[in-house]
Amino acid sequence: VTAAHCQTRSFASVALVEEPEFVCASNTAAKNSVLNRMWQHIETGEENAFYVVDTAAIEDRYDLWMKHLPYVKPYYAVKCNPDSRILSTLARLGTGFDCASQAEIADVLAAGVDASNIIYANPCKQPSHISFAANHGVDFMTFDGCDELTKMKKLHPNARTVLRLFVDDSHSQCPLGTKFGAVLNDIPTILRHAKAIGSNVVGVSFHVGSGCFNVSAYSEAVARARKAFDIGASLGFNFKILDIGGGFPGDDTAPISFDDIGKELNKSLSEHFPLSSGVKIISEPGRFFAAASHTLAVNVIARKLAPNSLAATAAASSPKKAAQGKRNMHAGVDPLYMYFVNDGLYGSFNCLLYDHAVVHPMALSAQEADGEYSSSIWGPTCDGLDCIAKDIKMPVMDIGDWMYFANMGAYTSAAGSHFNGFVPPQKVYFDSKDDESA
Ligand code: PLP
Repeated sequence: VTAAHCQTRSFASVALVEEPEFVCASNTAAKNSVLNRMWQHIETGEENAFYVVDTAAIEDRYDLWMKHLPYVKPYYAVKCNPDSRILSTLARLGTGFDCASQAEIADVLAAGVDASNIIYANPCKQPSHISFAANHGVDFMTFDGCDELTKMKKLHPNARTVLRLFVDDSHSQCPLGTKFGAVLNDIPTILRHAKAIGSNVVGVSFHVGSGCFNVSAYSEAVARARKAFDIGASLGFNFKILDIGGGFPGDDTAPISFDDIGKELNKSLSEHFPLSSGVKIISEPGRFFAAASHTLAVNVIARKLAPNSLAATAAASSPKKAAQGKRNMHAGVDPLYMYFVNDGLYGSFNCLLYDHAVVHPMALSAQEADGEYSSSIWGPTCDGLDCIAKDIKMPVMDIGDWMYFANMGAYTSAAGSHFNGFVPPQKVYFDSKDDESA
């Protein structure tokens, strides 16, 4: 796609190619704004993959949180996407932050967040990072075993500690219980140890697994947390914090809606931790805030027919026609087009491996709007593993055309690499609400 080619396009013509099943923005106006912003950027002559980041989408998610769980303070899980605009937007809205390392704490403090609004929610911490937290006034942190507690007591004697509980995470995209969480049977021993060394245990946390797809996972975890509180009370502790972790969906296509989770949590929290208990409820949502804010545009840098498709196409048509190019490639057969784009598994699409994500490519530009053909999409590196989609239907795309992927803000850019010399996509920030008010 040349700059001139792009200039002739508008959102209306894109919609003819394919009406996007766009779930990142909550309304059509925002959706159109994101795509228009994408085209504007392409028209500058861009060739590299890039993100359009809509900060209004983060505010929309915050409003949604407040609508369903207004009394649960969210601490944004920075690991999900440490993008500085996400941090500053959420800091302005007044959320807290869940950090897992010294660097994340430093980023959040640099965004102007007060140390009291940070929970260091990594139950197994590097000692020097604990000292960093202590030196910067971050005193709220999780643990799930005796040794960690002893280490924290030594390096940060005044820490307010939160016991991470093991809960059922089998209904989630990314289970976390393989690595973290104390089981109920071990809690008396751990809490006796806490008492012996004088650790100030202030509450309990859990995480039902990232990308949870069963609302009852939350209510069962709350009931289990109640048992942990009761064990604590029997040993003389007066816990005042319940941290219900993350796992909340990032968009409307998830198997469970935030509305349903809210209803389930409101019911179980009011049963086990009523307002009168004086227990403060907090949470650690990551994808909930980040996913919808990022839309990724990738450029088709190369194209070919899958092995044997060329011969099949030629047989169905004629060798002469097959040699003539794209129009004849799908004459009479359904060839498998292989598209190579400039971001892949070693970049933003690491989410396919680490987050077990499923992504949905949409054609932003395409040369023909006359049907869809079986296609595969590949990243730019030389690794055969670097495949984004194996067998999907796409309109025919040419070299230089653009595809986009909505809801790409969670567990994407955070873990991308520079493998093979392909740099992570740049970000184009904007606020779709500005377009609405213009
Ligand atoms: N809190 C902790 C301790 C985590 O490990 C994670 C994710 O791995 C999160 C919060 C965020 O989870 P999610 O993005 O599912 O909300």
